[in-house]
Formats: sequence, C-alpha cells, structure tokens
Amino acid sequence: MFRGLSRFLRTNPVSVQRRMSHSSLDGKVAIVTASTDGIGLAAAQALGKRGAHVVVSSRRQANVDKAVALLKSQSIRVTGTTCNVGKGEDREKLVQLTVDQCGGIDILVSNAAVNPFFGNILDSTEDVWDKILSVNVKAAFLLTKLVVPHMEKRGGGNVIFVSSVGGYQPMQGLGPYCVSKTALLGLTRALAPELAHSNIRVNCVAPGVIKTRFSSALWENKDIVDELKKQLSIKRIGEPEEIGGTIAFLCSDDASYITGETVTVTGGMSCRL
Ligand code: NAP
Repeated sequence: MFRGLSRFLRTNPVSVQRRMSHSSLDGKVAIVTASTDGIGLAAAQALGKRGAHVVVSSRRQANVDKAVALLKSQSIRVTGTTCNVGKGEDREKLVQLTVDQCGGIDILVSNAAVNPFFGNILDSTEDVWDKILSVNVKAAFLLTKLVVPHMEKRGGGNVIFVSSVGGYQPMQGLGPYCVSKTALLGLTRALAPELAHSNIRVNCVAPGVIKTRFSSALWENKDIVDELKKQLSIKRIGEPEEIGGTIAFLCSDDASYITGETVTVTGGMSCRL
C-alpha cells in the first residue's frame, strides 16, 4: 500500500507543486543574527535560496562585507549591517534598518552566542554569568520583543532560537554556556503559546557538534572526535548547512503546525532533559 502511495506522490504533479510552494519563502524578510560565518551564514543561505530577503549581521564590518558579497554571488537578496546582539542600540538599529530597507520582518533567527569561560562551573564568576546570560538568553528575548510588532503587522511570522545539544546534557567545562542553552528551550516554550495568538510560531534548533570555528577545539582534536563518535549514530561531525536546512524548514509552511518545539540535529546523539 505504501509503495503505491509513494508512486502516486512521485508522479502526481499537483502534490509535488504543492510541496514546493509550501517550502518557498518568497517575499519573506528574515533577520539572522551572527550570520557572517558558521551556522548563521548557512541559515541565511538556506533561507535566501528559498526566496527570502536575508538581513545578515555580526560585530565586524569586514565580516559583514564578506558575507554580503558571498550571498550576492549566490543570487540571494541580502542586506548587511553590524550588530553586536549584546548591545540594545545595535538591536534597535538592526530592526529599524530591516523595516526601512526591506519593508517589514517575517522571520527572526536568533543565533548569536558567546562562551567566555572554560572550566569547573564552581570556578565561574558573576561576570561570566552576566556576559553569557546577557548575550545568549536576554538578547534573544529582547530582540524577539522588538520584532513581534513588525511580524504582527505582516499577519504572523517565525522565531527560531539556536540552542545546543549541551542544553540537554551539559558538556564538561562548558557549564554556564550549557545552562544558557537550556534556558532557550524554556524561552521557546514560554513564548510559543503567547505568540500563537499573533500567528507567530516559535521554535528552536539544538545542534550537535557542527564544523564551525566556534567548535574547532572539539573537531580538530582526534581523541575528542573519536570519543564523540561513540555517542553518534551518524559517525561524523555535522555541517552548518544541515542546521540551515532545518531552520529553513521550520520557517516554511511545511512546518505550519509546529510551535514550541526544539528540533535536535545531532547525528543521533541522545538528548533528554
Ligand atoms: P561561528 O562559526 O564561530 O560563528 C560565529 C558568528 O557569530 C560570527 O559571524 C561572528 O561574527 C558572530 N558573533 C559572535 N559574537 C557575536 C555577537 N555578540 N553579536 C553578533 N554576532 C556575533 O559559530 P557557530 O558555531 O556557527 O555558532 C552559532 C550558534 O550555534 C551559537 O549560538 C552556538 O552556541 C550554536 N551551536 C554551535 C555548535 C557547533 O558545534 N558549532 C553546536 C551547538 C550550538 P563577528 O566576529 O563579526 O561578530
């Protein structure tokens, strides 16, 4: 029976067309924070390839210029600006510039995070906690609060937070960072029912170990990689594009009945709170 159904879906042009249009993000405007490298850049590419106009940003102008040039070379509609998400005036500038230059906001991918501390959690200081919670959690919430009125004007939207597998199982040495990533799972669940009234879906992605500069201390170390592989069903480190694709799916109409969820993208690493 299922073989027959799959043959029908493959050969029925209407259902194929319907699927294609549901994954399209044509006409949408997407802000992706920390998007000049790694997972943020891959998310901007994935959203842009599906038709969204993407607004990329990070702290350094040179990185913004490079990312804008790359995305333009891939025929993606893109606007770039600097934004340190930890600074209120930068967050406001990012939102205002997007509205002024792109006419509104449909998607926010809150991807920025810092980790200024490695060691035993009891050795972490108040300054470390202030920095980590301020950038990784508070800024994600405050940016959401800024974009919601603009999404409401468009009749709805999508917010995606980027958490981590460490939000489920804290990694040794990364206690405060992992706690901030657990907080994003809570933020997702707290916001989703409230924002559903405005037709805004709120979801979260929790990547496993992905090949970016941020995690290079892990994947450049063969002993750590060998140890990691024991926990993986798919025996390799993930690629940023594999997170970008999941984010684009969650922002599309293919995911129209999904809100308040965290999708783990970990190559099969066990994730349980
Ligand atoms: P990455 O490749 O090192 O890229 C970091 C990006 O963030 C750069 O564009 C950087 O540009 C920007 N950035 C850093 N601090 C910023 C700030 N305060 N405000 C705005 N932009 C800032 O990092 P990544 O691995 O893609 O990490 C992205 C997200 O994925 C983070 O939330 C991280 O926690 C999460 N994550 C990563 C992994 C992994 O294995 N890579 C696993 C789980 C979760 P500038 O230097 O120009 O600011």
